[in-house]
Amino acid sequence: MDIIHDNDADLSVLNGKTVAVIGYGAQGRAQALCMRDSGVNVIIGVRPGKSFDAATQDGFQVMTVAEASAAADIIHILLPDENHGAVYENEIKPNLAAGKTLCCSHGFAYVFKTIVPPADVDVIMVAPKGPGTEVRRVFEEGFGCPGLIAVWQNPSGNARNVALGMAKAEGLTRGGVLECTMQQETYEDLFGEQNVLCGGLVDLMKYGFETLIEAGYPAEMAYFECVHEAKLIVDIIYNKGIQAMNGVISNTAEFGEYYNGPQILGPEVKDKMKESLKRIESGEFARVWLAEAAAGAPNLKAKREALGEHPVEIVGAKIRSLFERK
Ligand code: NDP
Ligand code: MG
Repeated sequence: MDIIHDNDADLSVLNGKTVAVIGYGAQGRAQALCMRDSGVNVIIGVRPGKSFDAATQDGFQVMTVAEASAAADIIHILLPDENHGAVYENEIKPNLAAGKTLCCSHGFAYVFKTIVPPADVDVIMVAPKGPGTEVRRVFEEGFGCPGLIAVWQNPSGNARNVALGMAKAEGLTRGGVLECTMQQETYEDLFGEQNVLCGGLVDLMKYGFETLIEAGYPAEMAYFECVHEAKLIVDIIYNKGIQAMNGVISNTAEFGEYYNGPQILGPEVKDKMKESLKRIESGEFARVWLAEAAAGAPNLKAKREALGEHPVEIVGAKIRSLFERK
């Protein structure tokens, strides 16, 4: 894949355009602040409440979602994915007109059809590959978080240039941008978070922690071994790769990796991952999640609450407070 950098993108495509950032949460705030710092005319559309107050505090012109959508050329929807459909139907769709652009940072709503856009608007994705706090932090350092862009539909013929201009305004082309399809981004993003990053990693940590404490080992030490130290390992992999990480751990640890890793996570795990990918690509996961969200997310809330009572969280809070830099 080609990597797109600053020189390949032109900010001037946004001259005279108004970008409405819809939602002012993790991504909305970070992306809006970066675009504003790059000279883009940004307004915010959000409902009354915490986010509304935060955007006002940050000096933005803040309106309802409907008003911001009506006033904007580019409507960048940064709401929780499960809310895109309803907010789009009620507040955004009535304020669309030919020639406007819909933008998102995750293709979920388009790929799983909670938004079915009219044919005469451009639809693009500009997706930083990092949490909002990271997007903003790296931008303030004068660099940029890497990101992805995609074009879903392009009646104007200019959709890709607008996506690149926005990516540049957010600093993403400084970090490097990959161009993909919205299906690729959506399926890969869901796969990664369900199998490796969130689902996967969290379960691995919890199983390790539980195994040690059930065998009578001190919980504090189990927390260090199975949770705390993961950051140290991942940081080295992030900066230098897996082999370099193996180069700084002991030979004993490296031999243990080869000896025991496949006994814990054998090929059957990969078979299960293939099934997970099928559930994502077929839309089964999206159906389950959207039904859960529509019912008020009872299972999500119950799991959230149960996790708060798990010893890994209780011991973790204690350990982190002991080792906090005062
Ligand atoms: P957050 O939950 O942090 O923020 C959501 C925002 O939407 C809040 O400002 C919230 O306001 C507002 N909102 C929610 N419902 C409504 C509504 N009905 N009407 C008006 N405003 C509403 O979401 P994220 O920033 O995490 O995610 C936004 C998008 O970015 C998603 O598509 C996500 O997939 C994508 N993304 C997220 C990444 C991440 O790391 N978090 C990374 C890359 C992409 P209120 O305070 O009123 O609830
Ligand atoms: Mg993700």
